[in-house]
Amino acid sequence: MQILSNRLDRAYNKHKEEYEQKALEVLRSGVYIMGPELFSFEKEFAAYTGAEFCVGLASGLDSLRLAFRLLHIGAGDEVIVQGNTFIAAVMGISDNGATPVFAEPDAHFALTAEAIEKRITSKTKAVLVTHLYGMMTPMDDIVALCKARGLRLVEDCAQAHGASYKGKKAGTFGDIGCFSFYPTKNLGAFGDGGAVLVHDETLAERFRVFRNYGCVDKYHNAVVGANSRLDELQAGLLRVRLRYLDADNLEKNTAAAYYVKHIMNPQIVLPQPQNGTFNIWHQYVIRCEQRDALAAYLKANWIGTLIHYPIPPHLSKAYSYLGFGPGDLPETERLADTVLSIPCYFGITREEQRYVTEVLNSFSCRGKTK
Ligand SMILES: *Cc1c(COP(=O)(O)O)cnc(C)c1O
Repeated sequence: MQILSNRLDRAYNKHKEEYEQKALEVLRSGVYIMGPELFSFEKEFAAYTGAEFCVGLASGLDSLRLAFRLLHIGAGDEVIVQGNTFIAAVMGISDNGATPVFAEPDAHFALTAEAIEKRITSKTKAVLVTHLYGMMTPMDDIVALCKARGLRLVEDCAQAHGASYKGKKAGTFGDIGCFSFYPTKNLGAFGDGGAVLVHDETLAERFRVFRNYGCVDKYHNAVVGANSRLDELQAGLLRVRLRYLDADNLEKNTAAAYYVKHIMNPQIVLPQPQNGTFNIWHQYVIRCEQRDALAAYLKANWIGTLIHYPIPPHLSKAYSYLGFGPGDLPETERLADTVLSIPCYFGITREEQRYVTEVLNSFSCRGKTK
């Protein structure tokens, strides 16, 4: 049996008729940018998450870049971010001239108030929390810390559509919740897309103006803005997908529960959800000291895996100017060396999971990876 690391066709096929009908409807409408699909999606996604406002944008990276830009965070400012996030999160900070300051994650892959506190300086202006792999970060202490220290709080929810903590949805805890609708995400479009959630009307309006060349009324440009719009086709298709998001997330939880029940190998550590969290398993990420040997073993048995992420941002060439070297963030680096994402896509069958589990349970390796 061959099992790929991801199968986007499964999610598409599940609601194929509805997607195709919506696509045709948009194509025939003659309205392709800033139309009724976008405005409806914004209302529906805000209602779904419990946020006051949603503003559609062109990508997840744009949502992060614009978030810090519109919070007036830039040169001379520091933003605390976990070392084990996707590099786009860091780019959202540095694109504005601000300095990313890396904090270490805990054993749940998550940022903690304790880790943030260690990195606060007189230049710290904001904290960026990533709910990595769709595993929700417990937010109480982080929210309290940011309030006490007067720091802005931004959430990177690119992997956490519909995840929640104590019943409150990801993206509604801080000043701005940033989302990506890249096709692999739990709420994935069929191209690029992104959005922000905010509860401040003025801030929402600034995003609306900024995404469209700073235009307030046609040809009346108030600020030097950007072109960052969520198009009608993507917004329409996202409206269809949003209707099934809860059911899809529950399906992921059932698949994750299967792995918890059946993976039994002392060399493999399963992801541990935290109290009060509802997780949506954007990735199902196991850890293994012999990670590279395990990945090779799975590949030899026709099972695809991915590593999220093999090179942490502080060790990437892009951020060499920050001056970090190996050993500077030991927890982050240990995760980069041991994590492995196993197949857990929408529509994965019991039979496929049974095979993945069998192969994982038959792995044994005494040697070291590195
Ligand atoms: C996907 C992702 C992004 C970037 O989103 P794009 O839409 O691809 O620009 C940012 N942060 C995280 C954590 C992501 O997973």
